[in-house]
Parts: sequence; structure tokens; C-alpha cells
Amino acid sequence: MSQAERGELDEFLSFFRDYCADDIATLAQHYPKEKRSLYVDYDDVYNFEPDLAERYLSRPGEMQEVAEEALRTYDLPVDISLGQAHVRLRNLPRENTIDIRAVRVSDDHIGSLVAVQGIVRKATDVRPKIVEAAFECQRCGTMTYIPQNDSGFQEPHECQGCERQGPFRVNNNESQFIDSQQLRVQESPEGLRGGETPQSIDVNLEDDICGRVTPGDHVTVVGRLEMEQVVSGQEKTTVFDPYMEGVSLTIEDEEFEDMDITEADKKEIIELSNHDGIYEEMVGSVAPSIYGYEQEKLAMILQLFSGVTKHLPDGSRIRGDLHMLLIGDPGTGKSQMLSYIRNIAPRSVYTSGKGSSSAGLTAAAVRDDFGDGQQWTLEAGALVLADKGIAAVDELDKMRPEDRSAMHEALEQQQISVSKAGINATLKSRCSLLGAANPKYGRFDQYEPIGEQIDLEPALISRFDLIFTVTDQPDPDHDAQLADHILTTNYAGELNTQREELPASNFSRDEVEDVTEEVEPTIDPELLRKYIAYAKRNCYPTMTDEAKQAIRDFYVDLRARGADEDAPVPVTARKLEALVRLSEASARVRLSDYVEEEDAERVIEIVQSCLQDIGVDPETGQFDADVVETGTSKSQRDRIKSLRELITTIADEYDDEPGAPVDQIIERADQVGMDGGKAEQELEKLRTRGEIYEPQGGYVRTT
Ligand code: ADP
Ligand code: MG
Repeated sequence: MSQAERGELDEFLSFFRDYCADDIATLAQHYPKEKRSLYVDYDDVYNFEPDLAERYLSRPGEMQEVAEEALRTYDLPVDISLGQAHVRLRNLPRENTIDIRAVRVSDDHIGSLVAVQGIVRKATDVRPKIVEAAFECQRCGTMTYIPQNDSGFQEPHECQGCERQGPFRVNNNESQFIDSQQLRVQESPEGLRGGETPQSIDVNLEDDICGRVTPGDHVTVVGRLEMEQVVSGQEKTTVFDPYMEGVSLTIEDEEFEDMDITEADKKEIIELSNHDGIYEEMVGSVAPSIYGYEQEKLAMILQLFSGVTKHLPDGSRIRGDLHMLLIGDPGTGKSQMLSYIRNIAPRSVYTSGKGSSSAGLTAAAVRDDFGDGQQWTLEAGALVLADKGIAAVDELDKMRPEDRSAMHEALEQQQISVSKAGINATLKSRCSLLGAANPKYGRFDQYEPIGEQIDLEPALISRFDLIFTVTDQPDPDHDAQLADHILTTNYAGELNTQREELPASNFSRDEVEDVTEEVEPTIDPELLRKYIAYAKRNCYPTMTDEAKQAIRDFYVDLRARGADEDAPVPVTARKLEALVRLSEASARVRLSDYVEEEDAERVIEIVQSCLQDIGVDPETGQFDADVVETGTSKSQRDRIKSLRELITTIADEYDDEPGAPVDQIIERADQVGMDGGKAEQELEKLRTRGEIYEPQGGYVRTT
């Protein structure tokens, strides 16, 4: 040990005596079973000796070794050796907390101790790693001990006993192992402005800090930034990848939000919330380049504010998050509206149903190039990464089959269980889902129930609080306004671009501003993000009697329309909870502590029009919850029942033939209210469901 190192060792010893005596005593008591680390706050080191603290940051590897050596020589009251104990520095100063995307050699990051904040995207299993391998010579039995490091498995050149070149066998009992785990930490959604693609960094963990986090957790990792040479095929390249050797790991509060709301912001927010036209202003702040869709936009605002998550006295929980689905014809602006969410949601994830990662929308156990490429890793998908925020999923109908089944749990229980390849985990997904989907056959057929036109199963559809259908039908008035709007938007864009690109532009600033104003969001997106974050943190409204009454009346009235025995049930209790959530969100927009009658009425209007769009049995014009919840309307079910009866009747008439002749069924289909084509279609469905079979070509029988 050098003079300098001995000096530093003494410094640490006196630091430990002054600042950590109690912690070391506790560590000694529980070492090595329950505790193997001494946690040291950066501030303590700094208060003790600023220079020591700074050296710790710039030479973290050496300093940690010296500190651990000091810990081993520290005088303990009990007769215990802290031989393998770690010293883990935590709570670094703000200057040393860096953005994952901002790692730079030129900023002296590499080799120093830094902290990064983010969300755990992937985590490998915890697995033993060899740190000292004992090679047993197969000729003479002598053990040769070789310390191992991360640059690959080192084998002995010759046996320390007989000096021959083996063969050797690794003796596990004589070797030393340590727990190891790899994480991939990705920038938190709320830290990203305007839809940047999140970047990530890999972190190696050892020993007692392994196995502490699950994908989806928000963490602060303190660690040494190191680099690893990129290998392409067998070739070493000149490029290096940064990674971190984790020193300490803190799970952040779930509410942790990287958003500073100043007193001035707060004043502005409260002032805005008192505007009479606040709802219109809100609507005007969502995707202003998209014309129309006032109700959809209002619903998106309500979704951003979300209802109140309720914890019941019996320990159960009712979600406050709202799920919303836009189904519609192509080219109607759905994707545009969805992607706008990124500008105004305090925490959002935007993805397509196909998913941009192997974890897709929910979560998955995957085996890919992460870690050593052999082991299974648990990876969080979009709905987990959007925990406590909003997940905007475009092309939801194209989601993968694995996601479909996990989705039910994700939406209602707001968690995702993964049980595969020895990995059992439950990940949190307390987010709102904003989905967009295309109809099954590309375009809407207004005369068919919605349930049959989207490629999502009814049980999943029923989890949505609101479903909007967007049809694209020619309408001269509407088309003219839409055209004006799109042309103005584009014109404003042209002016802006020209002024930016050509200093000698003929248009004056005023002209540009005049046109731009028309297509600008009413409330600045940055302020709106803060507004939403502020409301969600500070506003927990409760229902007034008038609001309860209004919702109750609406619900009872809807149900009553389906009260007589034959009528389809208009609506189910799920809608009732949706109404409550929506009206809470509506109260939050005003920062009100009470859900008033006006809130109830506002959301009743939205729900009613959604129901009209989708819950209506296209054949009777009545509300029919079955259309939504099972995908088949009552009148349709009745007709299918009659079709089966018809088949039986015809089969009886033709009792000397193998079954009911198909051409007869089609000819007489009008008896059960179907035309021939429809009957053919229904027969096909009955056949695939196994409700009828073909004893012989051209004949069918019911099962
Ligand atoms: P979708 O996802 O529904 O297929 P997109 O969001 O990709 O449709 O929209 C296609 C294009 O049409 C976009 O450039 C969008 O700006 C434009 N567009 C469609 N509907 C509207 C609308 N109501 N107002 C303004 N632009 C629209
Ligand atoms: Mg689209």
C-alpha cells in the first residue's frame, strides 16, 4: 500500500468513527446474512472533508477499495470480521445526477461516479457469478486459484503443482461466487420532451443489491461509468458502449415526478382554472391541427386528469384511470390525435399495437442479446412503462396474441403477471390506455354491430370506459370546414417555415402570427402538462348529492328502457363506474374539491353519445349492452336461435335425407329475418363454432 493510500485509509477510518459508528455496529450485528453493505451518504463525506468527497467522485473504484479496506481494519466492539462487506455511496449531489442521453467522454463522465434516474426496462434473473475460480488439476489434484473479472473467463496456463497444462476441472466448492444481475435503465417517460425516443444504459449489480427491483420501478442508480468495446461479429471495433457498475440503488417514490411547478406556475394554473370557458380552452389545446372531434378531445382531457383511485375500507381498490378507444375509418386523424398526447401528458408512452420491443404492450420473459444472451430476462412493455401515466397505443387491433390475454388483467386490475421460464413476477401497470384501432375490414360498415367489426374480443372491449367510433362519410358542409382547417394549418406551417428558412421572406411577423394564432393550442402545452400534474397531485374531489342523483337517474333510466323481458339490457354496471370516474376527472379540470351536477351532466352527454354510436343495436335502434360486451346484439342472437330452429324443422321435414339441405335453408331464411347472403354467412359461423355439422356435402344438422 502506498503512502497516499495509507493516508486515505486513515481518513476513512476517522470518517467512519465520526459519522458511521452506529451503522457499522448494526452491520456487524447482521453481517453477513442480512446485511453486507455500509451505506454512506455523500453529504456526510463532504461535511467531513470536501476534498475526500471529490476524490471519491473522480476515482470511485480505488476509493471504494480503500474505504472497504478501512472497514475491514475498523475496530469493532464484537469479534467479527467484515471481510467481504461493501461500502456503497449514495445520495450524490445534483450536479452528478446526469441524463442517460448526456453521457459524454468530453465531460469526464467516464470513470467517475454518477447517478442516473430512470425506469427499469429489463432485469435479468439473479445468477451466481464466479469471482475466484478453483481449477483442480486432473493429473495431480492440485488447486490453482485464478481471480476472475469481467473481461472473460481466465484459465490457468499451467498447474501450480505438476506444472503441466491440465486438463483442469472447475471445483465449485472451492471457488468463490457472488450474486449478479443486469438491469437496463431507461429514461423516465416524464423526463422526455415532445416525444423523444428514450435512451437507456445497462447496469451491472453485484451481491446484496441484486434482486431488489422489478421492471417498471423508478430508480436512482449510483455507479461508476465504464466502457466496453463494441464487438461486431468476431471483430473488435473502435467504438465503445458506456455502462455502469452499480454502487447503490434507490427505488423512487411512485409519485416521483421530474416536474418543477413554481409558485408562478401555480398562480397561473389556479387563475386558468377559474375561467368560465376552461373546458373549451382545454379542448382547444388538444391537437389543434385536427379539425372537429370536440367530444373526443374533451374525453382525452378527462382521461389526462383521470378519476380518483379509491381505496376501500376492505382493502380493495377501484381504479381511477380511464381507458378510451377510438375505432375508425383510416385517414380520420386518429394517429395524429394519439401522438399529440405526448406533448401534454406529464408521463406518457406512445407505441403501436405491434409494440416496438420484444415485451410488446404488457411484459414478457425474453431471451435476447441482453445480459450474456443465454438467460431469460423480464422486460417491461408499454403499459408498465406508462405506470401512473398514459399509454397511447395506436393500431391496438394489431397487438400480439400474448398481449391480448395479459391485457384484461392490465386494464382492470392494473397489473400484469408474468409466469414463464422460471420467472414469476407481477408488474404494476396503473396507467390509462388510449387506444386507436381500425375496423376489421378496414372500413366501418354502419349496419353491423361494432363488436363484429373490430379485431378485439368483447371482454377486452368492455374494459374501456369510452369507445368512440369515427366514420368518414362525405358531408359537403363538414368537408368544406375540414378542408379550410387543414389548408389553414398547412398555410401557417408554410409561413412559419419560410420565415425561418428565408431571412428575406415577404411575410411580416404579424402576418405569420395572425395565421398561426388560429391553429395554436389555446393553453401552452408546457403549462398544460404542469396543470395536469398539479391537479393529479392536489385534487381529490368527492361527489355532491346532486351529482350522484344525476348519474343515478341517468343509469336507472337507461336500464329501465331495457326492463321488459324481451328488450336487450341497455347498459351494465361497468358504465356506472365509468360515469363516476369521468365526472371526477371533470371536477379536477376546475381543480374543484367537489363533483358537481354540471360535471355529471357533462359526462352523461359524452357517454350517451358514445353509447349511441356503439351500443345501439343497428337493427332495432335500441341500446344494447350485449353489443358492446359480447359482440352480438340481442336481435341477432334471436335470429341465430331462430336459424337453428329452422334447420331443425327442415331436417325433420326431410327425414329421409342426411340432414337439412342448405339450399332450402337459404331459400326460407326470410322466415327468420335474414336474406340469403346473411344466412349463408351465419351458417358458416355456426359451423366454425361447432353448432352445426355437415353429415354430407350440401346438408347440415344441428349438434
Ligand atoms: P388515421 O390514424 O385515423 O388513419 P391519421 O392520423 O394518420 O389517420 O391522419 C391522416 C392525415 O389526415 C393526417 O395528416 C391528418 O392531419 C389528416 N386529417 C384527418 N382528419 C383530419 C381532421 N379532422 N382535421 C385535420 N386533419 C385531418
Ligand atoms: Mg393511423
